[in-house]
Amino acid sequence: MKLILLGAPGAGKGTVAKLLTKMDGSVQISTGDILRGAVAAGSELGKKAEAAMKAGDLVSDDLIMGIMSERLKEDDCKSGYLLDGFPRTIPQAEALKVMLTDMGEELDAVVDIAVPRDVILDRLTTRRTCSDCGEIYNVKSNPPSVEGKCDKCGGPVVQRDDETEEAISNRLDVYNEKTAPVAGFYEKEGMLLTVEATSSDAVIEAIKAKLGQ
Ligand code: AMP
Repeated sequence: MKLILLGAPGAGKGTVAKLLTKMDGSVQISTGDILRGAVAAGSELGKKAEAAMKAGDLVSDDLIMGIMSERLKEDDCKSGYLLDGFPRTIPQAEALKVMLTDMGEELDAVVDIAVPRDVILDRLTTRRTCSDCGEIYNVKSNPPSVEGKCDKCGGPVVQRDDETEEAISNRLDVYNEKTAPVAGFYEKEGMLLTVEATSSDAVIEAIKAKLGQ
């Protein structure tokens, strides 16, 4: 399947994407994971993105489109992809539309995961992430078996740099201002499926129903 997953930080895009990849072999493409990898590697891309990410601001549309135009051409995308955290602005959505038309590809749906703000805030402050493989944990509801150690790869499970209270609050403001309008863009295109659910399983069921699976 080819899907865009929209939703505020902490809405569960990454968790839902990981569950969906297991269903049909589609790949999860998270621009946030790509950027965090670049920062960890100290690459040119990482240096350009680091300050904005740490503050919870968006990195530039040009940088993101450069990443995605390469990524979507890779071989593993042939079995489908789940775009997690992209597009995040109207210009990115417009540029993606042109890119997909040029590639002769069509998306199956754009899913907007709508979760109340208090749930989001609670999740983001208690979320922990493996800095090696990106696996997501939660100190309250889903801690790793050994504290601070990833069950999947043994890597360090930590709080992200942009999950301080200040950065979280900025990320939610940026989301409301720049990313929430992206749902309207896809509504006009007739592609939007809004799912109001706090459980990933309920989101998956709604997606399956939409795609007739
Ligand atoms: P995420 O893991 O999706 O929450 O992304 C972490 C951070 O990476 C964001 O707060 C932004 O600084 C940056 N980022 C990720 N995806 C994008 C995007 N599509 N456009 C701009 N910035 C992005």
